[in-house]
Parts: sequence; C-alpha cells; structure tokens
Amino acid sequence: MDIAANLARIRTDIDAACARSKRDPATVRLVAVSKTHPAAAVTAALTAGQTLFGESYVQEFLVKADAVAAPVEWHFIGHLQSNKVKYLGGKVALIHSVDRLSLGEEISRQWQKLGRTAELLIEVNLAGEESKSGVDARELEPLLRQLATLPNLAVRGLMALPPYLDDPEAVRPYFRRLRELAGEMEALGLPGVTMRELSMGMSHDFAVAIEEGATLVRIGTAIFGERTGR
Ligand SMILES: *Cc1c(COP(=O)(O)O)cnc(C)c1O
Repeated sequence: MDIAANLARIRTDIDAACARSKRDPATVRLVAVSKTHPAAAVTAALTAGQTLFGESYVQEFLVKADAVAAPVEWHFIGHLQSNKVKYLGGKVALIHSVDRLSLGEEISRQWQKLGRTAELLIEVNLAGEESKSGVDARELEPLLRQLATLPNLAVRGLMALPPYLDDPEAVRPYFRRLRELAGEMEALGLPGVTMRELSMGMSHDFAVAIEEGATLVRIGTAIFGERTGR
C-alpha cells in the first residue's frame, strides 16, 4: 500500500473537484480515516504531510494516539457511547457524531472539567436508516435548541453518512440536503451554534460531496486500503 501516492492522488482529486465547483481548496480538509489500521500507517501518512486523522473506536484510538509521536489533529467520527466520552476529553479536536442530548450533556460535563469548550458536529441520518446512528432531520432543530443551552459546547456544523450507493451521483441529493439543512439551522441564530463545517463524502463519493459543499471529507480505504476487521 503506497500511502504517500494514494494521498497525492486524493489531493489532486480534491483540487479538481474544487476547480469544478469554483471553491478554494483551502476550504476542504481531508480527514484520513485510520480506524483498524496500525499506528505505523498513521506515521506513514504523517511523513507524507497528512496531519488530520479520524478514528471510530475509543479504545483503538487511545492506543494509537499514544503510539504516534508527532503532533496530530484527531477527530472522533464513530458512534460514541456516553460512558466513553471521558476518555476523549482534551484528546480530540472535533467530534463528528453527536446525535442525542444525553451525549452532548456528557461531552459538556467532561470538557467543563478541563476548562475547555468541545467542538462538535451533529450527525444527521438523512435517509432514516434504522441501522445507522444520527438524528432524524426533523429532530435536528429541537436537538440544536437543547444543545445550545449547554456550556462548554460549540456546534460547528453537520455530518452525514448517507446510504452507500455504487453511483456517487446517486448520493448527490443527500449531500445537497445536508447543505440545505445547515443553511436552515444557521438561520436560527442559536448561541454557540454555527454551521461552517459540512462533514460528508468518503472514498468513493468525496468528489461529489465537495461539489455540494463539503468542508471535511472522511477518507479511509482510498488512503490505507481495505479494512481487514478489528
Ligand atoms: C470508516 C468511515 C469512513 C471512511 O470510509 P471509506 O469508505 O473507507 O473512505 C468515513 N466516515 C465514517 C463515519 C466512517 O466510519
């Protein structure tokens, strides 16, 4: 697996998608999703200039974060149980996957202990898929209103994991819907809530996501190869 070559190719594709949609490439950040891959893979990507990584499992993240020496920005992108939030305090720059009030409350509590404000995204389940986490689009506004009352939280935007469809074009309406939702939520003007970040797009559909406004693309397989399980 030539991680450096994969990263170079993806950066070229990101630039091309930005050119097509007349966007500044500096407004799109690549989150290298290293879940299930060893610390050595993270180090190889770091050597190639990649400094932002996404992890999905708390225990695995803690071990890996300890093993990687250089300063890295970690994002937590997986389903998060409230009882594990305490392990993430101060170690992750952004949590992409907040989808319920109880989780927001626990994040606020843990970051308060550190005297800091947690930055987070709200995960939206756009297709109402039973198997996936994420707040239903209709419940988004009530959730944001509740989160806005909590101290030590700053909501920065939305995240979605739309249905996997072979044709990336078929996913475009979901990306567009997430962007529209962000606009609607921004207009509410809630305290501590901005909608600057749209976390959407993975290995096979990130170009379309960028055309629809993604500011964070979460890419694993195209950088590190197939996941072999945990
Ligand atoms: C694993 C994962 C990704 C990366 O998916 P790839 O198809 O490997 O690029 C992105 N987002 C989330 C939430 C994930 O769990």
